[in-house]
Amino acid sequence: MINKVYLGIDIGGTAAKFGLVDENGNILHKDEFSVSFDGYETPILKTVLEKTEYFVASSGLDFREISGIGVSATGQIDSEKGEVIGSAGHIKNWVGSKIKESFEKKYSVKTIVINDANSAALGEKWIGAGIGHKNIVAITIGTGVGGGIIVDDKILLGKRGLAGEIGHIVIHGDGESCSCGNVGCLERYASTTALVRSVSKLQKENPTAFPKDFEENINGRKIFDALNENSLLKQAVDKWVDDISLGIISLVHIFNPEQVIIGGGVSTRKEFIEALSKKVHEKVMPRFAEGLEIVPAKLGNDAGLIGAIYYLKENKKNI
Ligand SMILES: [Zn+2]
Repeated sequence: MINKVYLGIDIGGTAAKFGLVDENGNILHKDEFSVSFDGYETPILKTVLEKTEYFVASSGLDFREISGIGVSATGQIDSEKGEVIGSAGHIKNWVGSKIKESFEKKYSVKTIVINDANSAALGEKWIGAGIGHKNIVAITIGTGVGGGIIVDDKILLGKRGLAGEIGHIVIHGDGESCSCGNVGCLERYASTTALVRSVSKLQKENPTAFPKDFEENINGRKIFDALNENSLLKQAVDKWVDDISLGIISLVHIFNPEQVIIGGGVSTRKEFIEALSKKVHEKVMPRFAEGLEIVPAKLGNDAGLIGAIYYLKENKKNI
């Protein structure tokens, strides 16, 4: 018999992942549901509340057997109120969602809410790549660039829980426009989307330099697979890694972490992590480089819901 079971929910822009998690972070049962099936006409929160009931029933448990609910959610999350207070993208009917209040009212189970990138950082610290580390900068590289910063074992939340928006630090002051309204943000250069964009541009300019089938669905995997045979691709990836390193170098100088964890699909590419690590180590001041590890994340898509349970357990006394 397991002592305590928690419900972890990771709400993204397309799907919500559900998991029953034990006290050690093991996922006992999990499932996933779309939240974007009707273009958000049904508010995400309404979908998630309904699916929660279904998920718990399908796992054979009663809400009285659940010791707490940890929600990891996309957007700007006020962790104290457990509310969505902003979003860099445009998801209809999402900003203003009172997640904590709705869950506690409907299910009478203590609920915490934390931003998904911050939650993923905590998940990695608990049972992933960051075990045993107290000062971590976690960066997820995908369609955007997300981040979470752990200082002396605690996630840095800032005044309202918004801290860690690494994707919107400015690395090129006269650069490209960003969805946040600013220009030159790290996300515009360091996301996988940015890499794909720059490779597409190169291909249009030099069509004969690429294999014929390359144009269809360019993605990170395709780029890395063809990297060694194509010098133009090498240049594009090198520039991209340079831009990622610019963000990391600033973060290392501000937070003096012992570890930088890189998440997202591209983090599984050993050559990428090695090239990035080399650039960062070369450019940070020597004392900051001592013992600094740059490593891939370990938990993949489960990091968010696992991290939410860690945050719940750590903060139980406060809720
Ligand atoms: Zn931005």
